[in-house]
Amino acid sequence: MLPPIASRFVAGESPAAALDHARALDERDVSVILNRLGEHYDERGPAEDDAAAYRDLIEEIANTDVDACISIKPSQLGLDMGADTFRELLTDLVDHAADRGVFVWIDMEDHTTTDVTLDIYEELARTHDGGVGLCVQANLKRTRDDVERLADVPGKIRFVKGAYDEPAAVAYTDKARVDEAYRDLLEYAFEHFDGGIAVGSHDPEMIDLAKRLHDEHGTDFEIQMLMGVREAAQFELAADGYEVWQYAPYGGKWLSYFWRRVRERKENLLFALRAVVGR
Ligand code: FAD
Repeated sequence: MLPPIASRFVAGESPAAALDHARALDERDVSVILNRLGEHYDERGPAEDDAAAYRDLIEEIANTDVDACISIKPSQLGLDMGADTFRELLTDLVDHAADRGVFVWIDMEDHTTTDVTLDIYEELARTHDGGVGLCVQANLKRTRDDVERLADVPGKIRFVKGAYDEPAAVAYTDKARVDEAYRDLLEYAFEHFDGGIAVGSHDPEMIDLAKRLHDEHGTDFEIQMLMGVREAAQFELAADGYEVWQYAPYGGKWLSYFWRRVRERKENLLFALRAVVGR
């Protein structure tokens, strides 16, 4: 069972728990992006198991009236075994989701996977009438070109700063430079996209910039944040009328995700320590 200490960041071990979380958020006008925890499979079995679990979840989402969608990791659906395996499993999943009106996000992993992930996203977004979204990372130097390429592809783009430690040859490693690249990407997207912009950031400065760019250009956008991070802000933004989606992971493989969240920020570490010592 998921210990209380992890339940700040993880919606539960079962799909039923994840859907309960989705219902609770829905009551506060926050929609949910569900991610079944799992990545870097080097055999077909676990990748097929996760694909099957996502198909069942999509079925359940389609039968509820909560606003929910899914987000998958490429290496969860076989990318480490080659582009063909990933394309096959993802296409099958997106077909299934499209038939049921459920949106599918594709997370972005490290820079060695960017080309293939972009290509498969573009194919699927064009053949599935924009029912797919892709994450792009501001820390990668290539991303501005990628975003220009994606400007007329139907679908949605989630803009994040980037979570992977990347080499300086391909990425900005200085935080201020990443922030500058993020601002530049938002400015480009609000000016050139028809909509479909997801601001995947907890950074108040970036969210304020998105609001200003929306006022200036009229381009629609949504805000995406992680479960357990600035949740009060998520509810406030939703109450102010902004479209807010919470990315909520679930599943048995919660431990490494939980530690990643705890390690990345001092406040989260203090939270974990307080939970351990019971204060
Ligand atoms: P940061 O630059 O980390 O922080 C900026 C400011 O935001 C801080 O100064 C503070 O004011 C506020 N803030 C940030 N965190 C907290 C906190 N815990 N508590 C209080 N305030 C805080 N990365 C990928 O590489 N691939 C993906 O597919 C991907 N998907 C994502 C999906 C979503 C919905 C989100 C929100 C992030 C995703 N990320 C992904 C992670 C992303 O790349 C960043 O690593 C992460 O969001 C941290 O950057 P930030 O923009 O939130 O702000």
